[in-house]
Amino acid sequence: MKLFDAHNHIQNCRSSAEGDAALRGASAAGVAGMLVCGTCPADWGAVLELAGRDKRVVPCFGLHPWFGPEDGWLDRLEEFLARTPSCVGEIGLDGARPAPDQEENFLAQLELARKLDRPVVIHCVKNWGRMLELLKENRPAVFMLHAYGGPAELVKDFAALNGYFSFGGEITDPARERLRAALAAVPPERLLFETDSPEPDATSWRSGPAGVVEVAEAAASILGRPTEELAEASYANALAFLDRLWPAG
Ligand SMILES: [Zn+2]
Repeated sequence: MKLFDAHNHIQNCRSSAEGDAALRGASAAGVAGMLVCGTCPADWGAVLELAGRDKRVVPCFGLHPWFGPEDGWLDRLEEFLARTPSCVGEIGLDGARPAPDQEENFLAQLELARKLDRPVVIHCVKNWGRMLELLKENRPAVFMLHAYGGPAELVKDFAALNGYFSFGGEITDPARERLRAALAAVPPERLLFETDSPEPDATSWRSGPAGVVEVAEAAASILGRPTEELAEASYANALAFLDRLWPAG
């Protein structure tokens, strides 16, 4: 079985030994690719370094909506993006954690993605209507909504803008009925799975990229499809999302 972890932050592993263990675990589980997402200028270097060390890592560079801008950040971001095939992200809107200039920073990064023709990795919490509006007005070539938590009714609108939808282990919880309904509403060719790992001391899906297996299994049982088929399809979807950006060569 071949899988793709569409969103993680393994640059945040507490030591390089822990990072190596996460990558080894991914190999054992059949994780053949992953998007490792930077969140601020301070972690972009570590993301770049991981991509240089492991060809499965697709680097993403962006200013996360929780973080405020610092001097010169946008120029530095463009430098990182220019250095290697990469996505713009993690960027977005978070209505639960507003930071200074959140919307302005999101728009500046969407513009950079258009200029460099890069896929965009988006974080959105409690701001789905505004997100849809902004994406319509400032449309990137392709984007993914990581840990999709919006209503099932909006799926078709985001999909029409060339959006992909990534789901994490939250779907393993039977109580999350609205989330599971949103999953079922996603067109099969736009579906991705993620771990958003690492979570310190997590024991299940969120401990590392290998946890994406558990996510695919949960999705398979919700959608009534074989896990293997869904895993392969999500891997193919990740390749389509990245277009010619990855794998290199
Ligand atoms: Zn994230």
